[in-house]
Amino acid sequence: MNEHTQKTLGELKDMLENGECSAVDLVKKSLKTIKEENDEINAYLEVFDDALEEAEEADKRRKKGEQGALLGIPIAVKDNMLIEGKTVSAGSKILENYTASYDAFVIQKLKESGAVIVGRTNLDEFAMGGSTENSAFGVVRNPHDKTRVAGGSSGGSAAAVAMGSVPVSLGSDTGGSIREPAAFCGCVGLKPTYGTVSRNGLIAMGSSLDQIGPFANTVDDVELLFRVIEGHDPKDSTSLLHPEFATADKNTLTIGVPRSFFKEGVRSDVLEQFEATLEMLKTAGHTIKDIELPYIKYSLPVYYIIMPAEASTNLSRFDGMRYGLHVEGKDLLEEYKKSRGKGFGKEVRRRIMLGTYVLSSGYYDAYYGKATTVRKMIQDDFTRAFKDCDAIATPTTPSPAFTIGEKEDPVSMYLTDIFTVPANIAGIPGISVPMGSVTRHDKKLPIGFQIMAPHMHENTLFTLGRLVEKKTN
Ligand code: GLN
Repeated sequence: MNEHTQKTLGELKDMLENGECSAVDLVKKSLKTIKEENDEINAYLEVFDDALEEAEEADKRRKKGEQGALLGIPIAVKDNMLIEGKTVSAGSKILENYTASYDAFVIQKLKESGAVIVGRTNLDEFAMGGSTENSAFGVVRNPHDKTRVAGGSSGGSAAAVAMGSVPVSLGSDTGGSIREPAAFCGCVGLKPTYGTVSRNGLIAMGSSLDQIGPFANTVDDVELLFRVIEGHDPKDSTSLLHPEFATADKNTLTIGVPRSFFKEGVRSDVLEQFEATLEMLKTAGHTIKDIELPYIKYSLPVYYIIMPAEASTNLSRFDGMRYGLHVEGKDLLEEYKKSRGKGFGKEVRRRIMLGTYVLSSGYYDAYYGKATTVRKMIQDDFTRAFKDCDAIATPTTPSPAFTIGEKEDPVSMYLTDIFTVPANIAGIPGISVPMGSVTRHDKKLPIGFQIMAPHMHENTLFTLGRLVEKKTN
């Protein structure tokens, strides 16, 4: 652990401002923690050798009177966002030696704000997974119990914060990949409203579901980083033109709880903590209301049609010619087959096959067409619920972090996302905030409280999230 990463961004900024520490000090501490912890945790795939130079640069910028929102703050970035001149592997052998030729929009924003990117973090290959066990570069171990997963697919970014190497990091969330590892690692993670953060320069998984978002130790810090990375980008056609966030100025908020959705499958001790958190929100003056979301139970089947369909399309560009790994063959077809066969891991190949199947002529209407219809019905469920509620709460996951190798069956792994996938299907924002811990084999494991809100109502998530974290602290 590193005493600086236990401080909030506000405190670190004050220290930098008062000259109590420099960006170089902060980055040196980060690098030291990574050196001590990373061999075991495997959160980082690469630590950047120019991080100290960047920190010196940040110190110079501050001396000149600059005041970037993250000036001199060390940050880690999931290795599926392009950083010009750096390798970007997406956790895959196919891109192992691929160098990014431009900065993703969020990276430009980080650089403008003065953040110092210390390294790129491990992930499930092409963000497909919920435990980082699908990374071509080894699993990420949970800092709270190293026999357990850190979650996924942004397991590296969550563990980077939880192991105390950086105060903040970036991940991406297609079906829960920020919120689930945040819950497993005991940090705060936000999946913003679809379209508020540009996907330009994010290696695509499911384009209608993907969103980049922040991890941090506190809701305030998540909010701060979110303000840095959001904004319109003409290079992303789904980026909102005039993002306007609703204010959360009501004193009493109504929180809907879809109990029938999670009456089965949630561990009883997780449920107890969830109910206790609701009770605390009630005591704080908010209203808790039982709600029904009749179609939400179809979220996972819908997700596992739409996501592979989009992923198989997005991954068609990795043909061994244009990007990364190339394997010689006797003709072009054999080169495609060999490059993709060698470059992609098992889960990625499984999803490409699934996606190609549901999009093939004769099956398109039965699978993809039907899934898009049900997607709309799930979206309507939320619209209806948000007429009477300001937010919806669920546990983030049915159980705490599982042990490495425990979920070999892909379907049992897919079920971990049951509460997180609906927000991606509807494009609404969701946050996971630590709500306490449960004990497994004498180890205390963190669990998360998920809050969802209507599009552009991130402020409601921050307001309620701050109350939840108060209960936990
Ligand atoms: N775990 C989910 C999956 O395997 C979500 C992944 C993500 O959000 N990137 O698809």
